[in-house]
Amino acid sequence: MKYNPVTEEILAELREIVGEKNVLTDEEKIEAYSHDETPAEQYAHMPEVVLTPNTAEEIAAVMKLANRELIPVTPSGARSGLSGGAIPEHGGIVVSVENMDEVIEIDYDNLMMVLEPGVVMNSVNEMLEESGLFFAGYPMSVETCYLGGNIAENAGGGKAVKYGVTGRYIMGLELVTPTGDIVQLGGKRVKDVTGYDIKQLIVGSEGTLGIVTKATIKLMPKPTQRVGLLALFKDEETAISTVPKIMTEGGIIPTSIEFMDKLSVKTSCDYLNEHLPYQDAGAMLLIEVDGIKEDVVNSDSEIIGELCLDNDAIEVYVADNHTTRERIWSVRRNIAEAFKVVSPHQSLEDIVVPTANIPKLMPYLDQISKKYDIQIPCYGHAGDGNLHATLVKNPDHSMEEWYKIEEEALVELYEATRDLGGTLSGEHGIGSKRKKYMEMMMSPAELNLMRGIKKAFDPNNIMNPGKIFDMVD
Ligand SMILES: Cc1cc2nc3c(=O)[nH]c(=O)nc-3n(C[C@H](O)[C@H](O)[C@H](O)COP(=O)(O)OP(=O)(O)OC[C@H]3O[C@@H](n4cnc5c(N)ncnc54)[C@H](O)[C@@H]3O)c2cc1C
Repeated sequence: MKYNPVTEEILAELREIVGEKNVLTDEEKIEAYSHDETPAEQYAHMPEVVLTPNTAEEIAAVMKLANRELIPVTPSGARSGLSGGAIPEHGGIVVSVENMDEVIEIDYDNLMMVLEPGVVMNSVNEMLEESGLFFAGYPMSVETCYLGGNIAENAGGGKAVKYGVTGRYIMGLELVTPTGDIVQLGGKRVKDVTGYDIKQLIVGSEGTLGIVTKATIKLMPKPTQRVGLLALFKDEETAISTVPKIMTEGGIIPTSIEFMDKLSVKTSCDYLNEHLPYQDAGAMLLIEVDGIKEDVVNSDSEIIGELCLDNDAIEVYVADNHTTRERIWSVRRNIAEAFKVVSPHQSLEDIVVPTANIPKLMPYLDQISKKYDIQIPCYGHAGDGNLHATLVKNPDHSMEEWYKIEEEALVELYEATRDLGGTLSGEHGIGSKRKKYMEMMMSPAELNLMRGIKKAFDPNNIMNPGKIFDMVD
């Protein structure tokens, strides 16, 4: 597809639509919009212009102009994405929703909230602090990411076992379509089977089907009690086989069940100068339970602790206050940072396999790691099979060697994942980074269905083109 450049005439029209100060062309200012948090420079691409509109109407007018002139438009949130979704792969216009950060309504009667897409996730729960409510569908990047980005990625976090991911809490959306219409999808109705559920199609569509300009989210009663358990096991198999028993034998759905392999724990502990006992255990589960009643949460955590020990855990440590909970969680949270010290060049993956197959994946990781002489730490959400296996460049390899290794090792990792019933991404999305692997996972018929949907929304292929899959002429 050949797109047209943003000319001086078009810039003048854009200034008319969104106002002079919301049109950024200064190279130093717009550089920040050329990349997200994907750790590799090859995905970066400069926009020609960045717009920071204030209303859905302005965005709709921009989309009409972009359609008329065949200019690509890329929606941008906080750019904390890990698959290059907000990067303007074909240049053109970036529409950043950073100015659209109003909380429109907190509806206590319906337990819902209506917000603009530029609201930072953390501020939602801060705002709800006194109300006894909270928004449960946030990812671990809660301090930076925006609601719009979370919806577009269907972000999930450490609490997905119990609370699910962002999509579960999206009740209504206002969307500017790629052709410049403003549509209202869903609303405050808990039940609604009136036609196709387009709202849920937008969730996770990575900004390729429209720009979210408003969202109605569902709120939940806020848990006030929390206990963390750190369970050490001799190997991954023993650790993972314990996970379903917590639910079947214990009858408890924990808030989170995080998994860390030996390499991840050791590197993170070294980085933090942390001395967790049994650093040399083969695998660790970090389990958290939450609720309203202290005695229930305590008894749930005791049951889980006993279950772990009955299933050959070497030791189980209980963290029932903020300080100790923070100590063990910080080991999990700092794994990625710790490996940046080993090498800043990494491929942070987001594969997902059926939970019970996690141990079966480990020998493959070992094999790939030995074959290419690289480290592949593996950690993630054991409760839902979503693992951040990360290929880390060996500092002894040249960049040229690393690019070749990354290319080949990724294919082997994805093949192993697919053969275990898994797929490319559980939460970070496809974006530009994983697009070329889509055919490994999906049949031509499935990809063609997706292309048909894209064409119905975006006949000129101007909305975040080049993401998830390429269109065929
Ligand atoms: C340290 C760290 C931890 C992370 N932890 C998690 C985690 O636990 N779980 C998880 O799922 N992700 C995680 N991420 C990834 C990232 O934070 C999420 O994908 C997040 O949802 C992206 O939000 P954002 O506002 O930064 O969006 P961006 O990166 O700006 O954009 C992401 C995608 O959304 C589209 N988009 C943005 N706004 C809109 C809009 N208004 N309408 C339509 N499309 C839009 C963009 O075009 C792009 O395709 C983490 C990232 C980092 C750096």
